[in-house]
Amino acid sequence: MTGFDAYCDLEGAITGTVLYNEPMARHTSYRIGGPASLYIECATLADINCCLKAFAEHGLPWCPMGKGSNLLVSDAGFSGAVITLGNDFKQFSFPDETEGESLLIAGAGVILSTLVQGAFKSGYSGLEFAVGIPGTLGGALFMNAGSAAEWIGSIVESLTVLRPGQGLVRYEVHELPWAYRCSGVPAGEIIVEAGLRVKKGHLGQIRAKMEASLKRRRKTQPLTVPNAGSVFRNPPDASAGQLIDSLGLKGYTVGGACVSNVHANFIVNEGGATAADVIAIIMYVRERVKEAYGTELQPEIRFIGFS
Ligand SMILES: Cc1cc2nc3c(=O)[nH]c(=O)nc-3n(C[C@H](O)[C@H](O)[C@H](O)COP(=O)(O)OP(=O)(O)OC[C@H]3O[C@@H](n4cnc5c(N)ncnc54)[C@H](O)[C@@H]3O)c2cc1C
Repeated sequence: MTGFDAYCDLEGAITGTVLYNEPMARHTSYRIGGPASLYIECATLADINCCLKAFAEHGLPWCPMGKGSNLLVSDAGFSGAVITLGNDFKQFSFPDETEGESLLIAGAGVILSTLVQGAFKSGYSGLEFAVGIPGTLGGALFMNAGSAAEWIGSIVESLTVLRPGQGLVRYEVHELPWAYRCSGVPAGEIIVEAGLRVKKGHLGQIRAKMEASLKRRRKTQPLTVPNAGSVFRNPPDASAGQLIDSLGLKGYTVGGACVSNVHANFIVNEGGATAADVIAIIMYVRERVKEAYGTELQPEIRFIGFS
């Protein structure tokens, strides 16, 4: 069997959806990216197992994806399968009325902002820092998303992943080497659920913290143009944005991509940008920062489809 023929059976075998040759520009916040051979939304654990078995049999590369808000996909696309999490992974339940700390169990496919709003409406505190961070809980956990002062790893109690060949595996929080924008969950494992520590809070205080955070974002981030958040990790004791800004690189443009005038660590798609445009800016910025400060900026965004 060649091409998609080998995977046609998947459509009948899983309850989720299978798309062939799917443009990734439709699924990334950058609105950039060529086609993935397969783009699959797995509705159940059985769906994931079925897909992983087929990929292993045919030697097809694959990767998990959330909402694509921290990704650059190459213009050539990805000769492999992208797996996203559907219905069964979008459930969450807040604990019944309780004093002190309690456990929120949530599927990794839940949109983070839904969880943040859910916590607020139920009067739970702990997730306010995540307001305005796009993407899924799974993506946030993998990336250890957060602000400069707070990140999701600090409220995790446990994570459940699907480890190919072994099934479901539970990590207690201390079993992972959480670090800046990194959970330490090995590539090749799919996060499917998490237990997060939350506690009943004062509604007015929760709201105030969320509003302050949103206000700061609106002021400091280019929220009206497609982007993928901070492109570079902050080097130890420095801000990538400030280093780039100090070299006068705001507005530096290649094709349809541009270093944001609002925040120098954001590269935005001004319209019609290609992944090659973004890469050209990344290379140029890295070179200039290295020359000026001797610092090698490391990307925070993740890449798919580049060799
Ligand atoms: C406007 C804007 C503002 C942002 N602000 C912030 C911010 O303040 N703080 C911050 O930390 N980030 C920020 N980001 C970046 C991004 O939103 C976060 O990293 C987010 O948590 C990524 O979630 P996602 O579902 O989109 O993941 P994706 O971008 O789809 O994936 C990111 C990585 O996680 C992996 N992954 C996704 N789901 C799973 C899973 N279930 N199991 C295993 N691996 C998985 C993917 O393979 C990939 O390597 C911002 C982005 C934008 C566009």
